[in-house]
Amino acid sequence: MDDVYSYLDAHLNEALRELQELCALPSVSAKGQAIEETAGWLVDRLRSLGLDAQVLPKPEGGHPVVYAFAAGDSTRTLLFYDHYDVQPEEPLEEWSSPPFQATLRTGRLYGRGVSDNKGNIVARLWAIRAWQQTRGRLPCSVKFCIEGDEEIGSPYMEEFVARHRDLLRADACLWEGGGVTWDGRPQLTLGVKGLLYVELAVRTLARDAHSSWGTVLPNAAWRLVWALSTIKGPDERVRIPGFYERVRPPTPEEVAAVEAMPAEEEDTLRAYGAARYVGGETGAEVRRRHIFEPTATVDGLVAGYTGPGPKTVLPAQALAKMDFRLVPDQDPEDILAKLRQHLEREGFGDIEVRYLSGVRPGRTPVTHPIVGMVRDVLAQVYGREPVVVPSMAGTGPMYPFVAELGLPVFDFGIGYPDTRIHAPDENIRLEDFLRGAKAVAALMGRFGEG
Ligand SMILES: [Zn+2]
Repeated sequence: MDDVYSYLDAHLNEALRELQELCALPSVSAKGQAIEETAGWLVDRLRSLGLDAQVLPKPEGGHPVVYAFAAGDSTRTLLFYDHYDVQPEEPLEEWSSPPFQATLRTGRLYGRGVSDNKGNIVARLWAIRAWQQTRGRLPCSVKFCIEGDEEIGSPYMEEFVARHRDLLRADACLWEGGGVTWDGRPQLTLGVKGLLYVELAVRTLARDAHSSWGTVLPNAAWRLVWALSTIKGPDERVRIPGFYERVRPPTPEEVAAVEAMPAEEEDTLRAYGAARYVGGETGAEVRRRHIFEPTATVDGLVAGYTGPGPKTVLPAQALAKMDFRLVPDQDPEDILAKLRQHLEREGFGDIEVRYLSGVRPGRTPVTHPIVGMVRDVLAQVYGREPVVVPSMAGTGPMYPFVAELGLPVFDFGIGYPDTRIHAPDENIRLEDFLRGAKAVAALMGRFGEG
């Protein structure tokens, strides 16, 4: 692999320029900005590398998906899942340099998308170029599936994968993110949580009333707070009947992987200025809960008057936003139905439950043979034993790749703990960018060998 690695070392600046060019396209999916241009840029770039690239017809209401294929020495096919859309750049004043002019400072590149996920896309293109330029061929076949709706919850991916099942056929899938820990160990992540996002809305009166009517008129804020209090108790358990019914208990191997993860609990408490974890949990138990347990989170709550000074008012309406992070084999539709039934049964049939989005959870077993191979590749490239993470605590559209395509899906990438994705001053360190590209190149080599 030395020739391939040397090529990558020698072409870091070229890859950085390419990444700067891609980051200059402000492809914020939430605003529908620069979407066609960015998809077009990727198709051009993939074609210039000799891949058969095209923009696939976009799903109804969605952004186009870039698909590409190149045959290699081996028919074994590695599918790269990525997304070309980014999060909104706001708040602008908190950026040290313009978000869409990726800027180099002290060994880091700052800009929206440099880490999530454009930097990973460019690292993958760069690894492909390294193989082509040094060996004149690719060691395995590769496919790209690069969507433009990831940052708004990938509402079309499940349908898209089902519709293009033959085109996306592969032997394994490298997911879109990842990075190294503070002490430089590469992280190998094998799953995602699912998500159910809802709004709970209640209206008790045609208009707000003078608060003296608190004697006899119903208050929307109280209705909502009482309803919410039936969903989760101070013991942190979700009280919706059947909520935990389909939770698949972690396997002993998954539990062992979580126990072997670095103990960063104290750092996390300090970073968030929290006194303690819920339930007073400590050590590996915190990691176990964080990775394997579902959640019920109030994201926002609005009712009545919240301005300065007193205003004696009885609110006519109240609204809460809530998300539930789900674990295998929970299903957002099933949880939504259970939530509705629960509120009804508790006497809160007046609370309107509005469904905003749903994503199913997905996970590749720690014991899958490919996990051992990827571990070896990462250990060799980084010179450190990888941290195996059975699932992210976050969500992504992995489910159809695992369930519909039947692929083992795994994730490693170019980030690090202070990479600030979704936030001002998103950045990558150049050494992580280079290492990440080497890891992709090495993976392609090992994968082609079978
Ligand atoms: Zn993101």
